[in-house]
Parts: sequence; structure tokens; C-alpha cells
Amino acid sequence: MALRDFSQSTQALALNTATLGHNLDGYGAGWPIEKVIDACARRGIAGIVFWRREIGTQAIAIGERVRAAGLRVVGLCRTPYLTGAEAPATLDEAYASVEMAAALGTETLTIVTGGTEPGTKGVKESQSVLADRVQRLAEFAATMDIKLALEPLNPMFGGNRTCLFTVAEALDLCDRVGAPNLGIAIDVYHVWWDSSLTEVLANTGHNRIFGYHLCDWLESTQDMLLDRGMMGDGVADLKAIRRAVEGAGYEGECEVEVFSAHNWWQRDPDQVLDILVERFQTVC
Ligand code: ZN
Repeated sequence: MALRDFSQSTQALALNTATLGHNLDGYGAGWPIEKVIDACARRGIAGIVFWRREIGTQAIAIGERVRAAGLRVVGLCRTPYLTGAEAPATLDEAYASVEMAAALGTETLTIVTGGTEPGTKGVKESQSVLADRVQRLAEFAATMDIKLALEPLNPMFGGNRTCLFTVAEALDLCDRVGAPNLGIAIDVYHVWWDSSLTEVLANTGHNRIFGYHLCDWLESTQDMLLDRGMMGDGVADLKAIRRAVEGAGYEGECEVEVFSAHNWWQRDPDQVLDILVERFQTVC
């Protein structure tokens, strides 16, 4: 199967605002959202993915601003944790994140699951709790036409951030819940090592991929969370991963998501955007 040709196009390119430091205290240039939108529009970037902390009470206005500039809101990051010690006691905040996605006018809300449930060991019990909570959330999301994308994380994030480690596990959870608006997000950072990816995706039988996240795995990663590489700078086989993802039927946006406290977040966002467009067209 031929890959989509991105060499002359940015029609499938989306910016995850995390790539510019997403207004984390002390990181990034702190550009206001309007400036980010305009800078993406100038470069033909097709869509933007926001984080809840940037949106606050302005979801409707920000969504309208994005569309007025000719872009799409490709997604919202993310629900609060649904499992683990840091998960809120109720699903209220998760429901509110669905409402925020709807107000923004996006279709897709990402789920990072949260870690191992307090008082349990291993991952099985946490995955059962997760399935129950995701089912309730998916029912609510369906009433607002929102799709939920479960993002399995690199196994090193087990314990406090995730109880889903592989694409296969995430797909199993989708099958267990069985909600039509539940699928997965595939992030290069989390799957680059998984040599079974092509086979696993080939056997899904139906398209369950709601998002594809681009970055690279640096050969000598210094910080698990905040040292992602720009596409082309690391050792992930980006073409092979995209071939697996598109082979499973994915035709959506490719979202650049580079958490990089000491490199890309220190640079001028205009430079970061220029480089990510160039890398998207040449190495992804
Ligand atoms: Zn991601």
C-alpha cells in the first residue's frame, strides 16, 4: 500500500501545542493562542490540538477563532486520569473534559489512563476499573458526538501514568468496552519499539485509530517525559509506523507532539514551526 504523499502538502499536518511548550510555567515562549493559530495558518498547517489548561472557559471562542483562520481543532488533550492514585474520585472532571471538547468543536478527546489503582498490584485490576470508567465516559461522550482515543504509553510510564502499555492492550480494551466512539491514539514515542505493531494493526479488522502523534525517539534520551526528539532526529522508523497506521485505514491528521524542555521549548516558536513543517514533508 502506498503511503499518502506529504512531500508537497500540509493538509494532514496538525500542531499539538505541547510542541511549543503549551504555556507550561517556565517553558516555551508563552505565545497567546491567537498568535499560535495565525502562525500555523501562515504555514498551511491544517489543524491544532490543544491542552485543557490553555482553554479555560474560552472553548467556544477559541474553536471559532481556529475555524476563522481556516484550520480545524483536531483534538483535545486530555481527560484527567481515570485510574491510579492521582485519578479524581469521580468522573465529573472527565465529563467536563468531554464538554470542553464539544465546545471547542473537535471530534476527538484523548485519554491517558492513569496508573495502577491504589491497593492493587500489576495491571489487570486497574484495566478492569479502567474498562468500567471508560464505558461510562464513552456513553456520555456519544451524546455529544465526541470520540475517545485511548493512548497506550511506553511501558516506562507504568506505575503512575498508565495501565495500558501496548497498542494490542488498548485494542483489547476497546473490544471489551465495545463502544463505537472508542478507539486508540498511536504515538511514535510510545510505540516505536513495538516490533509487533504492523501485525497487531493488520489484525484489527476495522479502523479503530482516532489519532496519530509524531515525534522521534532520541538514541540517548535524557528525560523520559520531556526529551522527545523532532522527527528525523532519532531512531524511530517513521515511515514504517505510518505504513502500519495507514494500512489499518487511518486517513486523519498527523499531529506533531514534541515535549522537549531543553531543546525545542527553548527555541523561537517560528523556527520550531518552520522546521516541523520541513520534517513532516521530508522524513515522516
Ligand atoms: Zn501523544
